[in-house]
Amino acid sequence: MGETLRNWAGNVTYSAKELRRPESLGALRSLVARGDRVRVLGSGHSFNLIADPGSEGVLLSLTALPPSVEVDAAARTVRVAGGVRYAELARAVHGRGLALPNMASLPHISVAGSVATGTHGSGNTNGSLASPVREVELVLADGSELTVGRDDARFGGAVTSLGALGVVTALTLDLEPDFEVAQQVFGPLPFAELDFEAVSASAYSVSLFTDWRQSGFVHTWVKRRTDVPWDGFPWAEPATEAVHPVPGMPAVNCTQQFGVPGPWHERLPHFRPEFTPSSGSEIQSEYLLPRTDAVAALAALDAIRGTIAPVLQICEVRTVAADGQWLSPAYGRDTVAFHFTWVDDAGAVLPVVRRIEEALAPFGARPHWGKVFAVPAGVLRARYPRLGEFAALASALDPAGTFRNAFVDEVLG
Ligand SMILES: Cc1cc2nc3c(=O)[nH]c(=O)nc-3n(C[C@H](O)[C@H](O)[C@H](O)COP(=O)(O)OP(=O)(O)OC[C@H]3O[C@@H](n4cnc5c(N)ncnc54)[C@H](O)[C@@H]3O)c2cc1C
Repeated sequence: MGETLRNWAGNVTYSAKELRRPESLGALRSLVARGDRVRVLGSGHSFNLIADPGSEGVLLSLTALPPSVEVDAAARTVRVAGGVRYAELARAVHGRGLALPNMASLPHISVAGSVATGTHGSGNTNGSLASPVREVELVLADGSELTVGRDDARFGGAVTSLGALGVVTALTLDLEPDFEVAQQVFGPLPFAELDFEAVSASAYSVSLFTDWRQSGFVHTWVKRRTDVPWDGFPWAEPATEAVHPVPGMPAVNCTQQFGVPGPWHERLPHFRPEFTPSSGSEIQSEYLLPRTDAVAALAALDAIRGTIAPVLQICEVRTVAADGQWLSPAYGRDTVAFHFTWVDDAGAVLPVVRRIEEALAPFGARPHWGKVFAVPAGVLRARYPRLGEFAALASALDPAGTFRNAFVDEVLG
């Protein structure tokens, strides 16, 4: 390929024979129809080889296509091009007096790549980032175009699709009226007598952080809408200094805290778009399981915290409302998500990842598609009841396997 192409974290190297950046939809369609294996690279924030087409394949970047963001204020929708990131989308939507319901911890990621992997933020009533998507525009393997909307029987497979159906050239999302959020961080919260339901329901979006060096959370990030009455957070004391989720990293990288109200897109993510998110030198894993099992799963992890803590930078616990995307890790169940930011040492981290998977197996934990996991394909198939339907849809839309790669082959069998 002439250049070494890595993901954002630098922990995986893509083996594609070439990286192409088509400058028009016509050029993209011709490229795809050539018959090579093709995978699209979003912003490269996944921690595994989900985007890699393999050494005979072509990696396609959409960054040379027009980064269009078309807001329809009357319909309260936005049509966003396949290469656009949340930071640009959010600014445009806010500029028109509208809002997305939720965001991930960072705005640096592409919209198409995020919804393809089931990326989520937090909040008992907030679905994954795929939830507001109402229409997907694809370029299929033969270069033809297909639009799949919510009334199409294939829609359940079309958004969180692991990039296996075609090139997503645009997405249309539902919007809501602009709102403000106040973000406040609270201090230590022990697991003993934790009322997880009450804590996670105490604001629009709640994130709990632990380093697993003790049986408790070190801090809780509470993001409340200012247009909704708030009963406060009686379980812990407010932090007196600005904090970063990862110990030792500068809080200036993070969005405004101390309960200062501001626009939704400047409070819902933890990290500001102009700064490095998280630590930058890391590996990530995440497991999603029924929210009703949150306390039992915390206890299962607490029992092995001596194994987790030495290779951990920080662990974040969030909630996600059930959605209907067949491959969404929150498919069909209100969910709690256990996220791990590891040290950048795959050899030390992988045995711990396996240990966590054993501990969370009784809860039917589904791994985040964009992060590091070792759950065998057969087990994954048991945990995704609609995976067979997705495999049939992928074969119908892409019979020659243009958009398949080793990752997708393993998952779909
Ligand atoms: C610092 C950091 C913080 C994170 N925080 C969160 C978080 O808060 N919540 C969460 O759930 N996840 C989080 N993640 C994970 C991240 O959201 C996912 O890995 C997401 O997929 C990244 O989007 P991307 O555009 O970088 O995707 P990529 O890694 O580039 O691609 C992911 C998949 O999408 C496909 N794809 C991308 N664009 C297209 C397209 N146009 N058409 C077809 N297929 C496409 C790719 O082929 C690939 O299969 C975080 C990651 C990092 C590095």
